[in-house]
This record gives sequence, C-alpha cells and structure tokens, in this order.
Amino acid sequence: MVDKELVIIGGGPGGYVPAIKAAQMGINVTLIEKDELGGTCLNRGCIPTKALLKAALLYEETKTMSSFGVTVEGSKFHLAEAIKWKERVVKRLSGGVRALLNKNNVEVIKGKAVFKGSNTLIVGEKEMTFKNAIIASGSVAATLPIPGIQAEHVIYSDDALNLSKIPERLVIIGGGVIGVEFASIFNAAGSQVTIIEMMPEILPVMDKDLSKGLKTVLKKKKIDIFTNSRVTEVKKDVVVMEHNGEKQEIKCDTVLVAVGRKPNIEDLGLENAGIEFDKKGIKVNEYMETNVAGIYAVGDVVPTPQLAHVASEEGIVAVYNIAGERRKMKYNAVPYCVYTNPEAASVGMTEEEAREKGISYKIGMFPLMVNGKAMVEGVRDGFVKIIAGKEYEEVLGVHIMAPHASEMIHQACTALTLEATLDELIETIYPHPTMGEAILEAALSAKGKAIHI
Ligand code: FAD
Repeated sequence: MVDKELVIIGGGPGGYVPAIKAAQMGINVTLIEKDELGGTCLNRGCIPTKALLKAALLYEETKTMSSFGVTVEGSKFHLAEAIKWKERVVKRLSGGVRALLNKNNVEVIKGKAVFKGSNTLIVGEKEMTFKNAIIASGSVAATLPIPGIQAEHVIYSDDALNLSKIPERLVIIGGGVIGVEFASIFNAAGSQVTIIEMMPEILPVMDKDLSKGLKTVLKKKKIDIFTNSRVTEVKKDVVVMEHNGEKQEIKCDTVLVAVGRKPNIEDLGLENAGIEFDKKGIKVNEYMETNVAGIYAVGDVVPTPQLAHVASEEGIVAVYNIAGERRKMKYNAVPYCVYTNPEAASVGMTEEEAREKGISYKIGMFPLMVNGKAMVEGVRDGFVKIIAGKEYEEVLGVHIMAPHASEMIHQACTALTLEATLDELIETIYPHPTMGEAILEAALSAKGKAIHI
C-alpha cells in the first residue's frame, strides 16, 4: 500500500495544470511546491514580464500619439508603480491557482521534495511513498564563466523584475526571447539598451525573416544590437566583447545576463531513484516517461522547448498515460511568441528548416503596411509569412510580426493541428478590418493570387 496515488513536484504550469487535470480524472493528487504556486511563469516569468511591458509600452505610446491628434504632456514612467501593477496581477493570478487547486481537492504541501528511492520521497521531516510521480521542477537562469560576472551590477531576469531604478545604460548578454523582451521593457522605459548575441541573428530559433524584421524594428527604436559577438569580461562600467574579431567596450551601469535557463535537477535526489539525466535535463520518451516506471518528467526540467504551454501540455500527456490512456507528446504545432512591440509569433517549420529537410515548399508573404487595420493603428512594420508544401499546399509554418501576433498565431496553430491546406485558410471568412486578414492574403500570395497587393 502506497501513501499517494500521484505526487507532483513543482507548482508551475508543468505542475499545477496536470494536478487539476488528474484530479478531474478521478486521481488523488498531492502537489509539492517549495516556493510559490504558479512557478517561474506566474511569479518571475511570463506574467510579470508582460505586466511590466504593458506599463512601459503605454508610456512609449504617450510619446508617439501626436499623429493621432492626441498629446500627453509631461508623461512619466514610474518604475515603482509599474512594479506594484505587476505585483497586483501576479497576486490575483496566484490566488486563482490556489483556489483552483482547492476546488479540485488537490492536496498542496509546501516544502522541498527529494527522492529517497524509486517510490519514496522526503519532504521536510515527512517521508511518503507513491505510485506515480511527475517531476516538474522547472529551470533556473544560466550564467557565463567570464571574469567579472559576479559583480553587483550584473543581474538576472528575477532581479530585472524588481529594480529600484531604471538603468541608464543597460547591456543585455543574450538576444534570445528573454533578452529581447527585457530590451523592449527598458528601452520603452527610457534606458539606453545594448544587446550582445553570440549567434549571427537575435532570436536564433525563429524564421530568419522574423528575427531580421524584429532586429530592424528594435534598431529603429535605438536599441543597439551586436550579433556574432562574444562577451569576454564584465568590468565596473563597461562590458568587453569580441565583435568581428575585434575587442570592443560597451558602456553600462547594469548588465543583464539572459543566456538561457538550465534544468532544475540539483538536490532532487534523482540518483537515489535511479532516474537518468544529463546536463540538458531529465531524459524522457514521447510519453513523458523517465527510465523509472511510474515516474514522469515535464516542463523546463526536460530537454524540450522551455515554454509554459509546452510544460502544461507535457503534464497533461503524462496524466493521460498515468490514467492508462496511451498518449504521445507532439511538438509540430508549438507556438513561440516574443512580446515586443510589435510582437513576433511563430508556429511550425521555419523556411530554413524546410530547406534543410529538403522539403519542396512555397512561400506566401503579406506586409502589414497595406492592411487597413494596421493603417488605422499606425502600424508600418510587420508581415505574415506562410510556408506550405509545394505539391499538396499543406500549411507547414506560419510566422507573424504584428502588434498582436501572439493572438493572431492561434489560427495558425489550429491550421497546423488540423493539417489544413492553403485553400482551407482561403475559404475561411475573416472579419474586416483586422490584421488577421493578412493571413488570408499571405495564403493567397503563396498561390500567386493575393488581392490587396
Ligand atoms: P517552473 O514554472 O519553473 O516551476 C517549477 C516549480 O517547481 C517552481 O515553483 C519551483 O519552486 C518548484 N520546485 C523546484 N524544485 C522543487 C522541489 N525539489 N520540491 C518542490 N518544489 C520544487 N514561457 C512562455 O510560454 N511564455 C512567456 O511569455 C514566457 N516568458 C518568460 C519570461 C521570463 C523572464 C522567464 C524566466 C521565463 C519565461 N517563460 C515563458 C518560460 C516559462 O516561465 C517556463 O517555461 C515555465 O515556467 C516552465 O514551467 P515548469 O512548470 O516546468 O517550471
């Protein structure tokens, strides 16, 4: 007889979502969280960054509204107030998570879980046995082994959410999604921001048209971007880097390290349970099973895309498998969103991937500049790009740069899930005026039949 039917380690989106799902399926669930419910996503990631971004962008808009006939005199950005706004949003949402867990009779234990064996956990003073376990312990910010990185003015994403003043000169090491989003926040708030990225492009996993398009917009906003550049040292008021083989110094008062996140596998006692892992995370198969029967791992702690919606979906897949319904995790329609202004959003194959895989494809492209709603909103930069198979015209990938790209991408996610074709996108009726009409036009353009261009 075991104490627990299902224990879940971690209360982030990879933990609390499957906890509710399992409870709905009639499984007795215990959720163990050492810190705050909602995990990184709710407390230090997705939500707080977007709340600060909204505040900073509102301020930015006050400076660009005059062409609409609106002027706001003496507008100011109060960082402390914006942080309070962010905290109110986080508090409301975390209260919601707790209420949902209570309503679904999920037992929540506050404490740090450590495996003692393959079916035994220790939480504080308590020892408990379990039939099934899901590890959703998340990730922590990675750092760099370079001189000066320990200095006080070097910060990480958690710190950047709670600064006491807006940096005058902020250098961000890393041009991935986290680096680029913080660049947008502090640029809009008034900092002089520089991004230093090792790869040839910022947002290296995205379609090149998107990363290049966004780079152009960020540069127009006076964010300095150095790609193909490697930081070699952080000093008191400069960051030293190698750019095109030459040593260069960038002035700064604050340095934000945003070079990715590493799986939170330390101190979990994985060895005691015999769970296989390496530095990329816990090893799992497509059913989210580890090598130990009854133990699953999901979210940032496994080497799959580090996104909240991926963590939740992996958790749900694990729950179905625990309940005996065999289900595999699919990654072909995972959306990636970058919450800059404009936003970037992507789902499915990039053009580079299609080319590498030797797939015959066609491209449809439609610029927002000629879209009515974009004009109404004063938007000039942006586009929708669709990649479709050459022969059957199945939608392979959709890439959008637009003010609400993260909302527009939903249609493309459905299209990929339903294995839709260009014709099915074209037969859909789109409301007018919307920026979503650019999806219709991009699909038409892939067939050489765009109407509004
Ligand atoms: P987490 O959310 O990290 O949760 C893990 C939880 O486990 C934590 O609460 C931790 O305290 C707990 N825990 C760890 N070890 C133990 C233990 N031994 N015992 C008990 N509890 C334990 N993703 C998006 O999809 N969209 C975004 O816009 C986005 N923005 C982001 C912005 C930033 C600045 C950052 C840092 C991340 C962002 N992410 C975003 C990524 C997203 O936050 C993660 O992918 C997501 O939180 C992963 O969920 P998880 O449940 O796997 O882990």
